[in-house]
Amino acid sequence: MTVHNRHIAPESLGPTITVGEILVEIMASTAGSGFKEPQALIGPFPSGAPAIFIDQVARLGGAAGIIATVGADDFGTVNIERLRQDGVDTSAISISPDRPTGSAFVRYRDDGSRDFIFNIMHSAAGSITLSPPAETLIAKAGHVHVMGSAFAIPGADKVIDAAISSVRSRGGSVSFDPNVRKELLGSGNFRSQFETMIRNADLLLPSGEELFVAAGTDGEAPAVKALRARGVGEIVLKRGKRGATFFGESGLRYDFHGFEVNEVDPTGAGDAFGATYLTSRRQGLGPEVSLERAAAAGAYNVTQMGPMTGLPDIAQLDFFLSTNPRRAA
Ligand code: ATP
Ligand code: MG
Repeated sequence: MTVHNRHIAPESLGPTITVGEILVEIMASTAGSGFKEPQALIGPFPSGAPAIFIDQVARLGGAAGIIATVGADDFGTVNIERLRQDGVDTSAISISPDRPTGSAFVRYRDDGSRDFIFNIMHSAAGSITLSPPAETLIAKAGHVHVMGSAFAIPGADKVIDAAISSVRSRGGSVSFDPNVRKELLGSGNFRSQFETMIRNADLLLPSGEELFVAAGTDGEAPAVKALRARGVGEIVLKRGKRGATFFGESGLRYDFHGFEVNEVDPTGAGDAFGATYLTSRRQGLGPEVSLERAAAAGAYNVTQMGPMTGLPDIAQLDFFLSTNPRRAA
């Protein structure tokens, strides 16, 4: 049985919601391998893939809400204030009385890859429940966006399932960003949760290898074909600085080759991209225009330090689009 709608619900159906980790991010100031010696760090920056995503939805004027937990500490305040300021409904963020806010330490290697130390499962971020405010938010939502990283949180899967069935019962839609991190792969039952999400995704937003992990097959064309056969609606593949590709019905494909920018901090680009693509589609724009706007948000994001520092509002996005050179194919 397929559960897909194969359409992305319009804004009028209700807010875009997400479920998952809210974290502070603390970044190494120098590139190198991991955290085995004392070093300069900068932070806290508000972070967590679902939080970055939902903040970008709100900055573009989309109704947005998040189900998550923070601690009763400054790190929690940093996050709640940022989300609230940008227009996210924070009513379903619980405050844990006894666990600190989650965190991620990140250091870039010289080749651009990253090492993380996550404190999620045993922090406030690791205790997500279907609280009464979460139920209220779910009951009015029009779209659910799921980040694969949320499946590392025990109990998040139940909240996600509840959100998907509720939204589906009103004709709403679902998107999925696999967002696999090697540090998180050992925990939880990722494979079967991935399968459920693929069966549900009206929009799939993999980056790089995640396309093959999701499809269970190598090669871009076979992977896209396999996913579409399983009922996935739109597939938008993120390619870092090389832009992104849209794969739609009956072989329809758009390639966007990206913008030339000076990359300062790539963390958050994928979330800014996904949120902008989804919100543009929910606002009624077509896939080709949405792809370019999403790539602009991703490119804008990497020019600033901190995952949520460079999340453009509509005016900043339009200005970026009209002033920045596109990369040649
Ligand atoms: P994340 O690391 O946040 O999970 P991701 O791997 O999901 O990100 P990316 O492909 O890195 O996603 O970035 C998303 C989009 O942002 C890209 O498809 C591209 O359009 C844009 N982008 C990312 N990095 C750059 C860059 N250095 N220059 C220009 N555009 C970029
Ligand atoms: Mg990336």
